[in-house]
Amino acid sequence: MKKIYGVIGDPIAHSMSPIMHNDSFQRYDINAEFFAFHVKKEALQDAVKGFKAIHLAGFNITVPHKTAIMPFLDEIDPLAQAIGAVNTVVNDDGRFIGYNTDGSGFLEALKKEIPSFDNKNMLLIGAGGAARAIYFTMAHAGVQSIDIANRTLDKAEYLVKNCPYPVDSAVLRIEDAEEKLSKYDLIVQTTSIGMHPEINRSPICLDRIKKDAFVSDIIYTPLETKFLQDAKRHGARTQNGIPMFAYQGALAFEKWTGILPDTERMQSIVLKHLGGKSC
Ligand code: NAP
Repeated sequence: MKKIYGVIGDPIAHSMSPIMHNDSFQRYDINAEFFAFHVKKEALQDAVKGFKAIHLAGFNITVPHKTAIMPFLDEIDPLAQAIGAVNTVVNDDGRFIGYNTDGSGFLEALKKEIPSFDNKNMLLIGAGGAARAIYFTMAHAGVQSIDIANRTLDKAEYLVKNCPYPVDSAVLRIEDAEEKLSKYDLIVQTTSIGMHPEINRSPICLDRIKKDAFVSDIIYTPLETKFLQDAKRHGARTQNGIPMFAYQGALAFEKWTGILPDTERMQSIVLKHLGGKSC
C-alpha cells in the first residue's frame, strides 16, 4: 500500500517540501506520496491523533508547531529535547518519535564550504527556534566561540544557559556585535529580518566584517537577502538558506526510508521552483 507523508504548518501553502520529497520518492522508486497539511494551532492535537489513526508514515513540522507538538508525541530524541523543538516525526510501528534535523541540516550544508571549525569564532544573529538548533549543533561541532546577538537579550541568555555542550559565548546587543565584527570567521543570520516581503532590511551593519569571513543567512526567500548582498560587497563568501533546507529534508527522508537522498538534486529542484541560482 502507498505510504503517506506530509508537512504541517500555518501557513503552509508555499512549502517546498512536497516537491522536494515527492521527487525523491520517485527517484528511489518508493511507493509513497508527500502532502502539505494546513493545521491551525487549536487543531494540532486532533491532527496528530488523526495522523495516527490513518497510519501516516512520517511528517515534518514547521512554524508555528515545532515546540507545541512535543507533548503529543510518544518519544522525543535527546537532541530535539535539548533544542526544545521537533521538525521531523517518524511513525515507528504506531509510535510517533520526534527528531530535530534543522541544526544537523545547517551543519551538513556548512561543512561543504568549511571543512573544519577548529579555531573558528562565530557570531549568531537571532535567538529564536532555528537559532537554538544551530547554536547547540555548532557548540557540539567544536566551534571555538559562539557569541549571540539578538533584539531580545533574555532569549540569547536563555540559549547560553541551556546549551548542553560547553562553548565560550557572550550575549551582545546588535550595536555591540557591529563593533566587534572583525573578530568573527563565521557569521550566521537566523532572524526573519530580510525575508520576503521586507527585502530591503538587514539585521546588522557589516562594515567592520573580516575580509575572509564566511557569511550564512538561513532565509531563502529571497535567495539573496540584503544581508548577503552586503556581505558579498565586503568580499565575504556566502551561503543562503537553500542548502540547509535541502539537508534538513534529506536527513528527515533518511529517518523515514533509510535512504540519504541526493542533496544537490534536492537543492536544484527547490531553486528551480523559486526561479534562481544558489548564492
Ligand atoms: P522565530 O523562532 O520566530 O525567531 C525569530 C528571530 O528573529 C528572533 O531572534 C527574533 O528576535 C528575530 N526578529 C524577528 N523580527 C524581528 C525584528 N523586527 N527586529 C529584530 N529581530 C527580529 O523564527 P525561526 O523559526 O527561528 O525562523 C527564523 C528564520 O529562519 C525564518 O526566516 C525562517 O524562514 C528561517 N528558517 C530557515 C530554515 C531553512 O531550512 N533554511 C529552517 C528554519 C527557519 P526576538 O527574539 O527579539 O523576538
